Amino acid sequence: MLIKKIHQKYKRQFPADYDSMKPIPWRHIESWNCIACGACCRGYEVFLSFPEWLNIVRSYGVGVTQPSISKFHLTRRNDGSCIFLCKYFDRWLCGLQHMKPTACKLWPFKILSRPKFGRTNEALYNYKERKLYVYVDPMCVGVRWGSPAHDFMHKTMTEIVDIALGLQEKQYYSTSKTPYRPVFFGTRGRKVI
Ligand code: SF4
Ligand code: SF4
Repeated sequence: MLIKKIHQKYKRQFPADYDSMKPIPWRHIESWNCIACGACCRGYEVFLSFPEWLNIVRSYGVGVTQPSISKFHLTRRNDGSCIFLCKYFDRWLCGLQHMKPTACKLWPFKILSRPKFGRTNEALYNYKERKLYVYVDPMCVGVRWGSPAHDFMHKTMTEIVDIALGLQEKQYYSTSKTPYRPVFFGTRGRKVI
């Protein structure tokens, strides 16, 4: 039902792009708030940088990651969900808060040095001396369409770009507002190092 609504919204706004579900330039987003629906932790593979992989297997053992052609990714359960996804009442939260991979922190944003998904002017984000291009994946249900609101531009976007550029690690505005932060105990960590 939720996915159907997202498709309808997207089709209304960008009929020409509907078939490809291309990411949307940030200038078409009024605000973004993660509602902890957990959809992104079920639908996507999370690839890890080498330091991220090392940190995770040191704490949780090698079983929580899987190799793919050139990188490791987080293990997924049989239903496709990330092994660190935890249920909290009717919400889904990340059990890897203290070492959440950058790919997860950035979702549903894509911060690029080129306008890979078109609509160059709408995607342009001037950051100090740099020109960046920011898009948002339309599959996230936390996206509210419209003209960027003040807090979205000056808090969420700034934080996301800082995280993407490696200038900040902690998340305040770019994560769900749920105060509870679960800690994953699902696998006994077998330290490898
Ligand atoms: S980022 Fe979007 S898809 Fe993922 S849990 Fe939050 S609202 Fe759901
Ligand atoms: S590490 Fe956390 S945020 Fe990333 S996919 Fe797994 S549960 Fe979701």
